[in-house]
Amino acid sequence: MEGNHEKARVRLCYLCNQRRAALKRPKTLEQICRECFYEVFEEEIHQVIVKNQLFKPGERIAIGASGGKDSTVLAYVLSELNRRHNYGLDLFLLSVDEGITGYRDDSLETVKRNELQYGLPLKIVSYKDLYGWTMDEIVKTIGLKNNCTFCGVFRRQALDRGAALLKVDKLVTGHNADDIAETVLLNILRGDIARLSRCTSITTGEDGPIPRCKPFKYTYEKEIVMYAYFKRLDYFSTECIYSPNAYRGFAREFIKDLERMRPRAILDIIKSGEDFRISTSTKMPEQGICERCGYISSQKWCKACVLLEGLNKGLPKLGIGRSRGLDNNHRKDVKQINGTKNIEGKQCGSLDF
Ligand code: SF4
Repeated sequence: MEGNHEKARVRLCYLCNQRRAALKRPKTLEQICRECFYEVFEEEIHQVIVKNQLFKPGERIAIGASGGKDSTVLAYVLSELNRRHNYGLDLFLLSVDEGITGYRDDSLETVKRNELQYGLPLKIVSYKDLYGWTMDEIVKTIGLKNNCTFCGVFRRQALDRGAALLKVDKLVTGHNADDIAETVLLNILRGDIARLSRCTSITTGEDGPIPRCKPFKYTYEKEIVMYAYFKRLDYFSTECIYSPNAYRGFAREFIKDLERMRPRAILDIIKSGEDFRISTSTKMPEQGICERCGYISSQKWCKACVLLEGLNKGLPKLGIGRSRGLDNNHRKDVKQINGTKNIEGKQCGSLDF
């Protein structure tokens, strides 16, 4: 009798109706067991990969690995799915060392352990080797304002350069559904139509050096954290010591509030972003080649070259924001180098990582 009462009190998994429910799934609020959680989590990602034809058999794929939860779970799940479903992919880990003491050096140790744990070859490219500057040195020069603009621009190119060294066909990143919803909002708030039109694409850069894919496009951040926790994955969770992220932080908090009230809000924002139609009268930037380094650019020089020129000339504001605070000569420098457009500040590179 007592046993029956006990059984009645135990909540069974909503999906298998056999095992004890161990968690409330953030995306659907269903009470499910761990085994079913692993299954639905991995299966949803597999379906996204298949439906969007993200990979072809035999392709070499670099996984952008920072040691954080998203890229660690991505490396783990992609290795599992590659084995389970015979994708036939050659997987690599690709990390960027920005040169941030006390942050990136520690997180890279995690990636080095992941290399052994998952048996995936690792390539690390550094800002110091590519640009002659570490982020520690850049912050010493420019302070804590605009540091993420430099970092984001440099990281984007560093990943492309690392991918070229690895001779991969594609680069996958751990951007999750929360990141994408946040980016949709930020691009609306900034009126950045060019980025708004492509930020929800699951694959970008097909006309550039290396296409980038986001297999976690519909995967909730909370579920990634739960998965990493239950699977006891080895990841690094400290925030960057130079992270200001005030504006992005507000957008993130806003999305978290919406999610608390209605979990579907994240998917709905992504859907809204996907359904935006760009008016044909909106002038879009034309893709060309940087005259200095040959990287893709819609201006005479790519963003990294403009920022580097500023750093090397001792004019770190060159190419940042609206050239306020620059004298006429410097203003002329910006115009000469970059046509008429300046570079918009961008936080933590996660828009473009
Ligand atoms: Fe770079 Fe991100 Fe740190 Fe900014 S917060 S300095 S973009 S790693």
